[in-house]
Amino acid sequence: MKYKNKNFIFKATVIILLFILVLNGRIAEPFLRIMGKTTRKKGKDTYKYSIPILMYHSISDNKNGFFVVDKNNFRKQMKYIKDNGYETLTLDQVYYHILQDKPFPDKSVVITFDDGYKDNYVNAYPVLKEFDLKATIFVVADYITNGSSTIYSSLKELREMNENGIDIQCHTSSHKKLDKLSYSEQLQDLGLAKEKIENLINNNVKFLAYPYGRYNNDTIKAAKKLGYEMAVTTHMGYCNANEESFKVRRICIPGFTGMNIFKRILY
Ligand SMILES: [Zn+2]
Repeated sequence: MKYKNKNFIFKATVIILLFILVLNGRIAEPFLRIMGKTTRKKGKDTYKYSIPILMYHSISDNKNGFFVVDKNNFRKQMKYIKDNGYETLTLDQVYYHILQDKPFPDKSVVITFDDGYKDNYVNAYPVLKEFDLKATIFVVADYITNGSSTIYSSLKELREMNENGIDIQCHTSSHKKLDKLSYSEQLQDLGLAKEKIENLINNNVKFLAYPYGRYNNDTIKAAKKLGYEMAVTTHMGYCNANEESFKVRRICIPGFTGMNIFKRILY
């Protein structure tokens, strides 16, 4: 009896895995790409209707981690984007394609950073400028200071970046797990964040990144009510042209991402 149970669990696991990998292409696609077994062929419609939105956090000196990319690796990745003729889209452009369910331009990619670390200004911004690439930084409104923080970008730095092609958007007021807050608490947090970032840096805050990728139906309801147009998640995958605009998937680039994997992700 025990053996039979084990056998059943094994079979069920295999079936579930097959379902995820084979039937649910939305999940399988980036996974297969990363594993070097890409199934999507260039020229097919699916290729044109999806885009990688890269998710970075910290860009550091000489350090790699899951959310930390060494600045030399980052430079190699950005150089690859530039040298190979990829176009970096803004989130405004992504939103337009999602609204219209229109194919994305050939060889396009989106670059995003969460949290607004100071090293984004010190290490990433000069590289983005060097290669003339567009990017979005999602900042936490309460973390914006006049320079007293050694961890997060100052107001002056954020303003400078915003004036030079880096879109500054919202990562909430307080970086709390939104799904743990009530509807009215979420409304307050997201409302204050939008107002503060608009007043201080960018009068056009329309996009949101959920801290820890956590959200619920109330989050989406509150964000829509406040005039946000689109939100990005930490759900792993390519963003499709028919994506739900408040559940947009991204592809995390951990520090250990080699160039072979990076090239596969960009396709
Ligand atoms: Zn965050």
